[in-house]
Amino acid sequence: MNKLYFSALALLASAAPALAQDAQRLAPVTGMETTTPITHRACGTMEVLAAQLAADPAQAQRMARIEAQTQQLLANPALQRSTAGTVIIPVVVHVLYNTAAQNISDAQVQSQIAVLNEDYQKLNADYTKTPGIYAGLVANVNVQFVLAKRTPTGAATTGIIHKATKTSSWSTNDAVKNSKRGGDDAWDATKYLNLWACNLGQGLLGYAQFPGGSASTDGVVILYSAFGSRAKYAAGTYTSTYDLGRTATHEVGHWLNLRHIWGDDSGACTGSDQVADTPNQGAENYGCPAFPHVSCSNSGDMSMNYMDYTDDACMYMFSTGQSQRMNALFAAGGARVGLLTSPGGTAPRTLATSSAASFYPNPAADVLTLDLPRGADAARYAVRVYDLTGHEMTQVRYDGRGQMRVSDLPKGLYYVTIGTGAEVSRQRFEKE
Ligand SMILES: [Zn+2]
Repeated sequence: MNKLYFSALALLASAAPALAQDAQRLAPVTGMETTTPITHRACGTMEVLAAQLAADPAQAQRMARIEAQTQQLLANPALQRSTAGTVIIPVVVHVLYNTAAQNISDAQVQSQIAVLNEDYQKLNADYTKTPGIYAGLVANVNVQFVLAKRTPTGAATTGIIHKATKTSSWSTNDAVKNSKRGGDDAWDATKYLNLWACNLGQGLLGYAQFPGGSASTDGVVILYSAFGSRAKYAAGTYTSTYDLGRTATHEVGHWLNLRHIWGDDSGACTGSDQVADTPNQGAENYGCPAFPHVSCSNSGDMSMNYMDYTDDACMYMFSTGQSQRMNALFAAGGARVGLLTSPGGTAPRTLATSSAASFYPNPAADVLTLDLPRGADAARYAVRVYDLTGHEMTQVRYDGRGQMRVSDLPKGLYYVTIGTGAEVSRQRFEKE
């Protein structure tokens, strides 16, 4: 919007009125057997944000810091990440299913990844429909999504998890992200984008968590039948006009810190999306509006923007300002900069048995000693320890000479990876 940006706190406060109005949506859904019919696009992101801010006041401070850094970067072009380099984001898709129809195929999942790659790299054919006054703003965000090839603990993976669940319908209470509540735990959110495809209820197509939220719930949830693209994989399971994969494009936009384009002010013309080159807009647009739809004395809502509420076929662009805002997360110190060094998108290669590196003793209490192939240079090996959920343990450090002290590690089971470059062996280890 063309207004000077609000303070971050004002922005966060703007989410509060939605809390009361949508409290009903946040109630856990149990025993619901049928999918709520989707009559228009609805995204639960702002309601989830309001609930999270109410539960954890520190989150507002974390988000305010991210906002301050974002605004600083936007004001100093020299500090912005060069858009010459494409950011590659490893993705894990958790498919939770209670019926066969909900267990969408790998091909349907892959069609969704393909849509994200088109939309975030301005490779979607329909961006040319953008009205002339906004055509010059259509941005290549320069982000590429790849299904993970390596799990957080270094094992090979397709990046797609299919998991049966007794839960027939999910709400925005994040149970879907928790194995103990019938869902599936997030992978390390600093290294992966977590997507959950499930039978999301409450009439919602999806919801996302903004940067600054809890790592255990970081990611995007999408209704299974709005996941993927009928145009790319016709044999999938799809719902009405939300069948081209744009729900994920919209929700990942939130995950990359974009706000709704109308500023979530219910038509007041006072809210902001914190982006300078998008027009001020009253309320959300539904369906497929003819251009121009004028509100707040603008030249026409940018209703074809992915961050509006239009049908999949009628949204086809991010603006340059939105791209800069998203890319600020990947600058030095940015909230999602860890993705730039994630190994998740690279397949692991296990050493041949004859040359495999191992270690002893196991279990161990104090020191692990590497057992390397004859003549190997211990300094060339990188050694890392992960817990069973894939978080790297910072209490241990390899000395580069064949020994690793584990005495500070809590007791329990871990994975140890030992490798030189692309060749990595991975073994379980017990700290006693
Ligand atoms: Zn949204």
